[in-house]
Amino acid sequence: MSSSPHNAREPQRQPPGRALLIVISAPSGAGKTTLCDRLLAEFEAMDYSVSCTTRPPRPGEKDGEDYHFLTEAEFKARIARGAFLEHAVVHGHRYGTLAETVAAALNAGRDVLMDIDVQGARQIRERARAADAADPIRLGFVDVFVAPPSLQALEARLVKRAQDSDAVIRGRLRNAEQELRGRPEYQYGIVNDDLETAYAQLRAIVIAEHCRIA
Ligand code: ADP
Ligand code: 5GP
Repeated sequence: MSSSPHNAREPQRQPPGRALLIVISAPSGAGKTTLCDRLLAEFEAMDYSVSCTTRPPRPGEKDGEDYHFLTEAEFKARIARGAFLEHAVVHGHRYGTLAETVAAALNAGRDVLMDIDVQGARQIRERARAADAADPIRLGFVDVFVAPPSLQALEARLVKRAQDSDAVIRGRLRNAEQELRGRPEYQYGIVNDDLETAYAQLRAIVIAEHCRIA
């Protein structure tokens, strides 16, 4: 028997082989960032896909770490040269996933974690389905939808986070109802009510997907 307390978590070393492309979507404020940060802290061979956006940085956000913050012209130039695996307009700003970041991680056998909206998830799901059977995107694709316990709880979290103006919060809540309608398209669904329970479910999905034979 180990002498360590049984709730202490050792860093997870994923089995070799299939690298996962984990797509997480949720209405803004449902807790994606909190859950993703915990996964990245626990799973060693997992990279976060840093997206590009034209939205201005929030206080404390770092360029190249939270997002690559681009002007509209810079973003359009990347679209024109086919740099994005997917891109979409969310809450009035452009967001996109860099294809090169994802390919480099998967080819190195590392999992890729991405926090993208339902439109972007749809684009990657379609690409995964259409891809060759041996394509790492098709082999590794896993999608998870994180829902808040209620719209009231979502509003309370957005207010508590205190990073957006009232008008922005109202817009995000309007969008939330639309995003929740996308939930049935995902393989897995989690309700982030109690954070510990939600995280236990998310890490169980990652571990199970690493153990899959087919
Ligand atoms: P998202 O990335 O989906 O916009 P965040 O991870 O930033 O959401 O979470 C929004 C706010 O809600 C943060 O202040 C976070 O600390 C809080 N939060 C996250 N999960 C829970 C939870 N299960 N219960 C209560 N508050 C939570
Ligand atoms: P936020 O501005 O709160 O960081 O993110 C707003 C929304 O944009 C969230 O739903 C988030 O998942 C989504 N998002 C972030 N990066 C990307 C991306 O690269 N592509 C797409 N389609 N959505 C993204």
